[in-house]
Amino acid sequence: MATAAANNQKKISYRAKEVTKCPVCATTHFKEELLSGSGRLIAGKLTQELQRLYEDNKKWGKINPLVYHVQVCPKCLFAAFPKDFTTLTSEEILALKNTVAHRQKVVETFFGKYDMGENRSIVHGAIAYMLNVDCYHLRGPASAPTPKKAVSAIRAAWLLDDLFKEANYRPYDKLRDFYYVEAARYYKRVLDTMTSGIEPMEESAYILGPSLDFNWAFDGVIYLNSYLTRKFIDQMATNPKDKYAIMDSSRRYLSKLYGSGKSSKSRPSVIIDMAKELYDEMGKMMERFRIEYDPAFAEQKAKEAAEAAAIVAAAQKA
Ligand SMILES: [Zn+2]
Repeated sequence: MATAAANNQKKISYRAKEVTKCPVCATTHFKEELLSGSGRLIAGKLTQELQRLYEDNKKWGKINPLVYHVQVCPKCLFAAFPKDFTTLTSEEILALKNTVAHRQKVVETFFGKYDMGENRSIVHGAIAYMLNVDCYHLRGPASAPTPKKAVSAIRAAWLLDDLFKEANYRPYDKLRDFYYVEAARYYKRVLDTMTSGIEPMEESAYILGPSLDFNWAFDGVIYLNSYLTRKFIDQMATNPKDKYAIMDSSRRYLSKLYGSGKSSKSRPSVIIDMAKELYDEMGKMMERFRIEYDPAFAEQKAKEAAEAAAIVAAAQKA
């Protein structure tokens, strides 16, 4: 009895009253939802990746609301944001039916046998976002899969980082970095698709986040594309000319964000400040890449450096 009472006090989630029937395999489940209130979530700082951290909570333990966000069928491992869970076309159902074994293998390879019907832990959360990336890959443009893959990839990376900190004997860091690079690539594609109109952007506006406490919307997409490109440029391209080109394209979008200069309620000054800093850092990195592949530019830069050194030496003599 005492244990039951203690468990009850520790209750952080509940099951939805309405059953969900999987459109792919017809298995039913009750979605787990996070209980809010009673000081379960204490917001901490915002990271450079626009990730909202949560303070450790004496009464409730460690809770990360991201863990509960994606809906997953425990049988066939079809995953989607709740709004997209029951809106599959017949082609999408077929593609998802044909890839059940692949999804099971992804989970088993990294985590062993895992029951996605259990109450969720960080591991379930990481798996849910990894599956989400795979499943949106099979969806048509109507559900705006590209931004959903971008957001899912960065959240997978965050949760895998949490796991790595808890159990660093497993190669979660490698898997984490894989999803960071995926996120960098998808965020770039979001910028391209947003301007082309291939995917209806209003379909994804509500999930851009990338955290749950504030939606940085398109500003966040521009900023994160540059942030992740700068951080993972060595994994995104091998030669300095390609690195320069990728960074140049991201930085042009970034200049529009910080060039606007004005902060507002939907655009807090913190993102403009971070964008400015990033813009300058990327400029310096691009100069180094160009020195590597452009001999004339390297020569000019060497000449400038020699002239500057001569001026300093002359000033010191005087
Ligand atoms: Zn299913």
